[in-house]
Amino acid sequence: MTDYDYDLFVIGIGSGGTRAARVAAAHGARVAAAEEYRVGGTCVIRGCVPKKLLVYGAHFAEDLMDARRFGWDVPADCKFDWKTLTGNVFEEVDRISKAYNTTLDSHKVEVINERAELTGPNSIRLASGREVTSKYILIATGARPHIPTCPGHEFGITSNEAFHLESVPKRILIAGAGYIANEFAGIFHEFGAKVTLINRSDQILRGYDEQIRDRLLQISMMKGIDFRFNAKFEGIEKQADGSLKVSMSNHAPIEVDCVMFATGRVPNTENLGLDAAGVELTEKGAIRVDEDNRSSVPSIFAVGDVTDRIQLTPVAIREGQAFADTIFGNKPTRVDYHCVPAAVFSHPQMAGVGLTESQAKQKYGSVKVYVSDFRPMKNVLAGRNERALYKMICDGETNKILGIHMIGPEAAEILQAAAVAVKAGLTKDAFDQTVALHPTMAEELVLMK
Ligand code: NDP
Repeated sequence: MTDYDYDLFVIGIGSGGTRAARVAAAHGARVAAAEEYRVGGTCVIRGCVPKKLLVYGAHFAEDLMDARRFGWDVPADCKFDWKTLTGNVFEEVDRISKAYNTTLDSHKVEVINERAELTGPNSIRLASGREVTSKYILIATGARPHIPTCPGHEFGITSNEAFHLESVPKRILIAGAGYIANEFAGIFHEFGAKVTLINRSDQILRGYDEQIRDRLLQISMMKGIDFRFNAKFEGIEKQADGSLKVSMSNHAPIEVDCVMFATGRVPNTENLGLDAAGVELTEKGAIRVDEDNRSSVPSIFAVGDVTDRIQLTPVAIREGQAFADTIFGNKPTRVDYHCVPAAVFSHPQMAGVGLTESQAKQKYGSVKVYVSDFRPMKNVLAGRNERALYKMICDGETNKILGIHMIGPEAAEILQAAAVAVKAGLTKDAFDQTVALHPTMAEELVLMK
């Protein structure tokens, strides 16, 4: 391997890139990794981590209100300070980013804080002009928010900028109805903003179980979040008073203080020299890879959102690990994409694993659906009229569990354990045989009829 400067050169130090670099180095490879912005990538710097901390912060709005029913004297003028929260969140983000750097250092990965571009199948040019060669190259450059091309789109922000707002906008319009839209709708609503969510189609969270997402829609509307469907973005006009007038199809224009686009994420494949190296892209502009994360060029691999398979951090991490183990660890490994659990950190949370009811019906014809539709004990005492809904979808003949989908407090925390059972191919009987852990919400999983 000595003909090259490195055995592995990683472009992009996010979740997938970090795991690949660290594991390859642990297997004895000489590794360098380039990052043009900050080590940690979307998840740590402007995604999962800061978002989840805002979700925690936002949920206090409900907790403080509910606390009164539990005997706490919470003053009516209880105030929230956005700058305190975001300041603390940024400190935590810095801490994790530094921890990533420390891990890479301790594995002797050379971290290069520069943009890198391919110049060929084994060569890279850094922004400083330095040219390096590597036996293998891994692209892990992630994705960025898609911004619709409409007049005035430059007045809108994306989730990247949402963390850096000076204050909570009084009125915010969020375009899109997927993960990011519903999570930020919840966050801004809890902090007191008037939230309007608009989507081009007539539904939220396409791909999730219908009944579960209907429940989120119903609860969100009950809380005061406004939804407009079949509303295609037409443009944003900045008014003299600084407010933004948003036009859309099928609905009257609306005036807000902030517009946020949450209309999907596009792979970061531009200006990377992929053409020069001969790397093929998919129709959506993602790097086309095989089951071993190998691109159309045998020395170049890609993992994570830049490949647009499943845009989730734990999936990118698995892909990075599988790549490093396969190429440098003499341990051929492929990621199993079957039964990947996912969650939406809305208020309340949604989580699911496996097939939804309609997907299961299409695939298996005969399915049994077990449901628990209940009001969590805490909500009852708090006088909070929000019901949780858990669904278990089973094969009609064998009772094998095909999917579990839920909405309710801490749904994501509860689903992770249940996902093990679905992944292991257990049947409903295994749940029936398990004694309930009382009193919990999770016990509903073993009591479903
Ligand atoms: P999603 O794919 O979840 O949702 C995109 C939304 O935007 C949909 O409502 C879609 O409408 C709409 N949309 C898509 N393209 C356009 C367009 N050209 N013009 C107008 N509207 C459009 O994307 P997000 O941006 O919310 O998130 C990106 C990805 O990041 C997610 O898919 C997920 O993988 C990941 N993510 C995961 C999180 C988690 O695990 N909790 C949190 C945040 C992000 P429709 O589908 O109805 O047609």
